[in-house]
Amino acid sequence: MEHILIIEDERDVNRLLAQTLKEGGYKTTSAYDGMEGLRMAENGAFDLIMLDLMLPYFSGDEVLRRLREKSNVPVIMISARDMVRTKTDLLTLGAVDYITKPFDLGEVLARVVSNLRRCKKEESRKQLTYGNLVLDKVFCFS
Ligand code: CA
Repeated sequence: MEHILIIEDERDVNRLLAQTLKEGGYKTTSAYDGMEGLRMAENGAFDLIMLDLMLPYFSGDEVLRRLREKSNVPVIMISARDMVRTKTDLLTLGAVDYITKPFDLGEVLARVVSNLRRCKKEESRKQLTYGNLVLDKVFCFS
């Protein structure tokens, strides 16, 4: 079962996302601030991360920047901000997708499914095998 980390400080929104993703057949873990979220993201094996932009301690873009130094896990950003510049900045930082609040839960699930599928395809394409050596070059963001 694919495991998704939800980093969102608004408890109701976090709970709604978790419920929707569970109904979609995913396992979820919730974090409620940037510091906790980054720690969990670095230590856990997640297939995808939903990351809110406005978070206590570390903002979402800071979490994404730090995470990208170590990991290429696909990240979908969530934000109330509807700014094209922010969106472009976050995609440049390495988010695979961006969802603006208030969001439709059906759309959230559809985006999670499609990003996981796309990332998996790229993952298999980018794994190089040479004898016993397997090189992983996973870059799931375009
Ligand atoms: Ca927030």
